[in-house]
Amino acid sequence: MDTRALGSVHFETDVLVIGGGMAAAWAAISAARAGATVVIVDKGYVGTSGVTAVAGPGHWFVPPDPERRAAAISQREAIAFGLADTRWMARVLDETYRQLPTLEGHYEFGINDAGIKMYGAVRGPEYMRALRQLAESLGVRILDQSPAIELLLHADGSVAGARRPPAKGRGMDRARGRRHPGHRRLRFRLEAARKPDQYR
Ligand SMILES: Cc1cc2nc3c(=O)[nH]c(=O)nc-3n(C[C@H](O)[C@H](O)[C@H](O)COP(=O)(O)OP(=O)(O)OC[C@H]3O[C@@H](n4cnc5c(N)ncnc54)[C@H](O)[C@@H]3O)c2cc1C
Repeated sequence: MDTRALGSVHFETDVLVIGGGMAAAWAAISAARAGATVVIVDKGYVGTSGVTAVAGPGHWFVPPDPERRAAAISQREAIAFGLADTRWMARVLDETYRQLPTLEGHYEFGINDAGIKMYGAVRGPEYMRALRQLAESLGVRILDQSPAIELLLHADGSVAGARRPPAKGRGMDRARGRRHPGHRRLRFRLEAARKPDQYR
């Protein structure tokens, strides 16, 4: 394929999520639910690359009973060598309890012998496929095979976006990549071998 004919591809978005594992997928889903336009870029394929897709992640899924939540937090705090932030832990518990069941319809949660749905432990491969589906259903744009190799910066040094490698045979404009004129939105600049509509 003659990549010169296709040139570079440039996306602008409210939120750019780099990496497409479970952390990234949930971040993208939350941002999309808050009304932001979102792009996820992954160096592999969102749904199969990364650790989540080959693991069996266990979620910290504790019902909003103050005593159980407090016990869960102090149990972890006791083994955190003083590094834990209990307010952050409480927020994680709250977010996980609210967000995880919203995957229903895309992922089939297990049911234990007592007939109780088990949200905590998930099957990595199916879970990541479900997260991809949920993200896409919320309008998140997913760019696979798109490693972010360089961050683009605003003039004040804050991160404005990222760049993927240039297509083979094309030079990289480093000066343009390092300094980016001030812009409200994040941008992901692609020196890509494909047109935007070929990414989905
Ligand atoms: C064998 C095994 C068993 C496990 N068992 C458990 C368990 O029982 N319970 C538990 O809670 N946890 C378990 N874990 C840990 C848990 O699975 C991981 O902590 C979690 O999946 C990590 O999720 P993540 O989203 O942070 O990262 P990942 O799922 O690894 O996602 C990172 C993504 O970022 C992409 N990426 C990286 N760099 C770039 C770049 N420059 N540009 C674009 N994309 C990029 C990668 O391609 C990847 O898709 C286990 C892990 C393993 C390996």
